Amino acid sequence: MKTQRSAELWERALRVAPGGVHSPVRAFRGVGGTPRFMNAAHGAEITDVDGNRYVDWCMAWGPLIFGHAEPQVHAAARDALASGWSYGTADTRSLELAELITTHVPWVRRIRFVNSGTEAVMSALRVARAATGRDRVLKFAGCYHGHVDAMLVRAGSGLAEQPEPDSAGISTDTAHATLMAPLDDPAALDAVFQRHGRELAAVVIEPLPANNGLLPQRTEFLQHLVARARACGTLVIFDEVISGFRIAFGGMAEVLGIEPDLVTYGKVIGGGFPVGAYGGRAELMELVAPAGPVYQAGTLSANPVAMAAGFATLHRLLRDPPYALLEERAAQLAARLEAIMAAHSPRAFRVQRFGSLFWPVFGAAGEALETVRAPERIPQGHAAAFRGLFHALLERGHYLAPSAFEVGFLSTAHEPEHIESLARAFEAAVRAGILENVSR
Ligand SMILES: *Cc1c(COP(=O)(O)O)cnc(C)c1O
Repeated sequence: MKTQRSAELWERALRVAPGGVHSPVRAFRGVGGTPRFMNAAHGAEITDVDGNRYVDWCMAWGPLIFGHAEPQVHAAARDALASGWSYGTADTRSLELAELITTHVPWVRRIRFVNSGTEAVMSALRVARAATGRDRVLKFAGCYHGHVDAMLVRAGSGLAEQPEPDSAGISTDTAHATLMAPLDDPAALDAVFQRHGRELAAVVIEPLPANNGLLPQRTEFLQHLVARARACGTLVIFDEVISGFRIAFGGMAEVLGIEPDLVTYGKVIGGGFPVGAYGGRAELMELVAPAGPVYQAGTLSANPVAMAAGFATLHRLLRDPPYALLEERAAQLAARLEAIMAAHSPRAFRVQRFGSLFWPVFGAAGEALETVRAPERIPQGHAAAFRGLFHALLERGHYLAPSAFEVGFLSTAHEPEHIESLARAFEAAVRAGILENVSR
């Protein structure tokens, strides 16, 4: 595979952007090597500047549930573009997308569009603080909520629930307003609520954690969480930036039958254009300016081209629901990969999946691997094995997200032949001993 042009562009990129990229994980630091510069994509495939084609299992990190350059989304965006691409006024496209969502997602009575998932979470937290008159919020170790200051925290060395900043530039005061609990641990949750329940404005969780591997939570754990929060007057925020419209139209809330007070969206909601949103109960959302005292604004919010792409995507999801098909294909993919590993490698292995999300997990030889539900239970050698696999698959024309802790995304453009091709590449890599020859 020729990669010379990517290598040249990478040299240039390193001179003008921090680490060469505009979002960290694109830099391949988790897997090593030089990123491929992509410049075209269609359906399930993506092409780099050297002309190499890959089956894309990253899919722009989730938005493209119908694949790259889907014709209906393309047409909607192009039509919107032809009418001018930004008004900064009241407009019909944002109204139509808001109506589509509030009609089909009963717990979203009001919605506000922003430009990213990060903005959505930041704003939802502000609403929760305003509504409760409390400052602190609770998050879970292993959940990602964008680069909001209050959410960039990691487990500290002191009190179990008191985290430290997880990024330079976050003030200690900000970090101290956030408490942290482990996933899948009702007893630890009880302890936090006992001590701090009445100080908590909100508890925020990815109901399907998918940013530190895929860590499916037990329904009872989520129900317990909601019950504890309600008993303390703490608002429940479901961060459905990945799961919203992807797992079901109403996201995990629909699957679980749990109505959050506030919900955040991103990714699929914009069909691949920059859109985020937060919404929820009417009396909470009516606190947002100009209806209420919580200030939040955006010059380019609800951009008409992005709204049109989002509407086309969501409209197609309702008219032509892909969820059963995606589930079936993901199951097929998981079964194929697991069978190959069982036949050709002594390593423990499983593909964790939920709907169209999948995450291959590597254990040690002979290890018993159960469903991983918390980051501290990810097997030791997983990342090293993934690095070997990533490069072996890349060379064979399959582009996985370049990190052992990011999930894979299926779209409706991924046909059985793409899965078969992945399985063959995977088998060749495993048989070549790629997974056994990696150093830690
Ligand atoms: C991607 C993601 C975010 C951040 O969204 P951006 O658009 O990248 O700011 C927040 N929460 C979850 C659950 C996400 O997956």
